[in-house]
Amino acid sequence: MMRYTQRSFYFIGGLKENAWNQTITSLFKRASHTQVSSGDQNLNFSDHKTVFKFKRTTDLLRGYFLLRVCSINMFVDNALSVMRGCERIFGEKLFSLIARPTFYRHFVGGDTEAELRATRNELAKAGIHLMVCPAFEEDAGETDVSKTDKYKTNMEYIMEIGQIMLRAGEKDPCLQFKITAMMPGDLVTKISSNIGNSIQLDELSEIIGKYLETGKTTRFDWLTEDENNQLFKCLDYINTFGEKARQTGITLLVDAEYTYMNPGISAVALGMMLAFNKERPIVWNTYQCYLKAALQTISTEMEIVEKRGSCFGAKVVRGAYMEKERKLAKMHGYPDPVNDTYADTCAMYDRVAEYMMTHISKVGNRCNIVLGTHNEQSVLNAATKLTDLGLDPRSGQVVFGQIYGMADQISVPLSAAGFKVYKSVPYGPLGEVLPYLSRRAAENRVVLAGARRELELLKSELKSRFIMRG
Ligand SMILES: Cc1cc2nc3c(=O)[nH]c(=O)nc-3n(C[C@H](O)[C@H](O)[C@H](O)COP(=O)(O)OP(=O)(O)OC[C@H]3O[C@@H](n4cnc5c(N)ncnc54)[C@H](O)[C@@H]3O)c2cc1C
Repeated sequence: MMRYTQRSFYFIGGLKENAWNQTITSLFKRASHTQVSSGDQNLNFSDHKTVFKFKRTTDLLRGYFLLRVCSINMFVDNALSVMRGCERIFGEKLFSLIARPTFYRHFVGGDTEAELRATRNELAKAGIHLMVCPAFEEDAGETDVSKTDKYKTNMEYIMEIGQIMLRAGEKDPCLQFKITAMMPGDLVTKISSNIGNSIQLDELSEIIGKYLETGKTTRFDWLTEDENNQLFKCLDYINTFGEKARQTGITLLVDAEYTYMNPGISAVALGMMLAFNKERPIVWNTYQCYLKAALQTISTEMEIVEKRGSCFGAKVVRGAYMEKERKLAKMHGYPDPVNDTYADTCAMYDRVAEYMMTHISKVGNRCNIVLGTHNEQSVLNAATKLTDLGLDPRSGQVVFGQIYGMADQISVPLSAAGFKVYKSVPYGPLGEVLPYLSRRAAENRVVLAGARRELELLKSELKSRFIMRG
């Protein structure tokens, strides 16, 4: 008999408003009563012995120190300038000597085949799978027209990571990537602003899918001649990338970015699904549940793909760009696309997860999802639903994902209880990954605040190890 119990619910740090307190109180009440039966193991997120069973004491000490540093808002706000300042003062070599064994080692999977293999082996001890996340992205306004080869180089680099995962022995490797690593951010933004006006999403996805399959081009009169050329050149890179993934059995997860880019990202992701997902979901798109339109978006996009005979894949997350989304909406005077409260986002997350799992229970392997979350209650709700629907937790139809270096108290017990779990592992050289990590840290401030519970568990485990030794 499997029993999922939530002994306690961690507090999202620093949130003092009444709404927050009410949210947390209601979640706590709900959480403390969660009990699900379906097997013969406990799903328990507070047993530090199980969580850190495979970790060396030095790794725990490093984790404790780093999570403490990351819970300081001032550090997170200025992480990149602090690190760049240290680099200037100490010089590149000395800085690398400090940063590599600390932040880099804890949050990054490496930048060589040997390092990624070591990371993979470490995760495999706990039965956790590899989802590598290369640190390439480009925001609107960052496009440098003189660097035309950049997108091809990025694609080749990311494609090679997939092959490294396979050579390291990973059975079902997942590769996260951003469309803006392979296509200019400015172009993706322009395409996005035309979707719904000059062209509809289903029409554009179909044209992109056709191009990827047959090479049949179309010229869009809402793009300049140069932009048209750029689009189809980048689609050639994406075609090479998708084809390699299809041939070698790598799942490609397209990341969601800002709402001013997401429609363009979706057009490419859905086009890839139409071209590469004929037999199984190789390409998956990401859906951010902090958006009021999340359920509508995922159901519409799933229909576009399934109606045309392809399989659908989705990464379901809460969303990482809340602060900037709210700021932009206020600045430009349009309605805030983000849910009004954290409770609304949590409700949307659980609704989307449930909707997708119910769909999977009807269509089976033709639809797969990953639930990317560090929220214990959402994980418990999903595990409960998955069990109730009679889905096989090892089938890969519904898997869980957490960020490498965080939330082991969720990943390890989930995997031990028989669910399929991935860690999203950043990969790349120190200089490339640091700006990426500091951006992610600022965007995921709430997650870092939530690491408080992980800190408690680390403290308990360290205490018990030192007492046993002493
Ligand atoms: C494997 C994986 C892949 C990911 N890929 C992406 C991606 O492609 N794109 C992306 O944007 N993010 C991505 N993320 C990050 C993710 O979107 C979240 O930022 C992060 O996981 C924190 O959410 P949580 O579910 O862990 O839960 P929690 O820590 O419980 O929730 C925090 C989240 O709730 C939301 N929130 C907080 N306060 C409020 C409020 N006042 N009103 C409304 N909503 C609020 C925000 O989304 C915030 O990030 C990924 C995360 C993982 C684990």
